[in-house]
Amino acid sequence: MTNLAAAAEYPASSSFLLRPDAVFDGKEMHTGWAVLVRGDKIEAAGPSTTIAVPNETRTITLAAETLIPGLIEGHSHLFLHPYNETSWNDQVTNESLSFRTAEATAHARATLLAGFTTVRDLGTEGAGYGDVGLKKAINQGIIPGPRMIAVTRAIVATGSYGPKLSTDLDLPQGGQEASGIDEIVRAAREQIGKGADWVKLYADYRWGAGEPSRPTFSLEELAAAVKAAHDAGRPVAAHATTAEGMRRAILAGVDTVEHGDEGTPEVFRLMKQHNVAFCPTVAATDAITQYRGWKKGTDPEPERIKQKQASMKAARAAGVKFAMGGDVGVFAHGDNAREMELLVHEYGFSALEVLRQATSGNAEIFHLTDRGNIRQGQLADLVAVAGDPTQDISAVRQVRLVVKDGVIYRQP
Ligand SMILES: [Zn+2]
Repeated sequence: MTNLAAAAEYPASSSFLLRPDAVFDGKEMHTGWAVLVRGDKIEAAGPSTTIAVPNETRTITLAAETLIPGLIEGHSHLFLHPYNETSWNDQVTNESLSFRTAEATAHARATLLAGFTTVRDLGTEGAGYGDVGLKKAINQGIIPGPRMIAVTRAIVATGSYGPKLSTDLDLPQGGQEASGIDEIVRAAREQIGKGADWVKLYADYRWGAGEPSRPTFSLEELAAAVKAAHDAGRPVAAHATTAEGMRRAILAGVDTVEHGDEGTPEVFRLMKQHNVAFCPTVAATDAITQYRGWKKGTDPEPERIKQKQASMKAARAAGVKFAMGGDVGVFAHGDNAREMELLVHEYGFSALEVLRQATSGNAEIFHLTDRGNIRQGQLADLVAVAGDPTQDISAVRQVRLVVKDGVIYRQP
């Protein structure tokens, strides 16, 4: 990987030593540790007395700061911006691909500078294969941004997804439509051929405005798409909010279920049994409910929030594995910490649990063996935050240093 353009703006340092107050290594906190970066890798991490530091190595002292692995956003849409600025429909129908790409470029930068060095970007929502180009530009150092897992267009059942305006208009759709085993398999393979790292399937959706979500694809269709994706070495994420959509996705063999708002104890037990991870996107639920008029802190909790609380409780009781992902794009890019804060303050997780989810946990669920931990040999994706995020999760907003691929993108 080259960093030609980035090198001018963000000078690379081939070797430097980081000396923070504490190190969260992806699993536990340590004091008295130092971390040596060499090239794009972590050369050594451990008690500072045990690290052999080459002569003339630059030392960066991070007083009163905690060094953590670069955070991993589990559910983003870099091609969307908050729905209270522009509705999803209007973004898909009125905003051109060039405009959306320019926005995505700014979103990528904001994400990286907020300490999120990897995103699983779950669909361009009408912006075609824009994510593949964005990822390439980031990887070539043309623009700053996180490492991207791209899913391209995502796959929706014919007729189920929007925008839905006049029946006479042939509008750009928010996903690639498919029906039947041949079409869904072809769609998965087309997307993989164009650069999808994961495949995303919509297992349920609202068939009409104002309707509740209902299943879209049959179990057979979902299973065929999952098989095609897995044959190609691509994991599968399923959008599912209904219990039946979740059940079909799980039985079809998907790797993660997104949202799960109406998940029942039975369906979460099935999820656990099939080792499917759950990405709850509580921040999206919180944001959308507020966009619809909920005055948080004043009004009583709406049904939608109560239901989310109940489903999360059921998921925890069943012992499912949680991915940390907020559906950022529904709310502002760079505000990714919103999901982490809500999980701690409103959903009963400890700060340590959520930090693990956002680092080593997501790395494991997303099969990213080269990151998510601070240890020798891992990619040099590192973030320093003021304070102790294992005590106060909001410390992850106090970003002081961002290193990705051994390149310093932000420093005091
Ligand atoms: Zn989403």
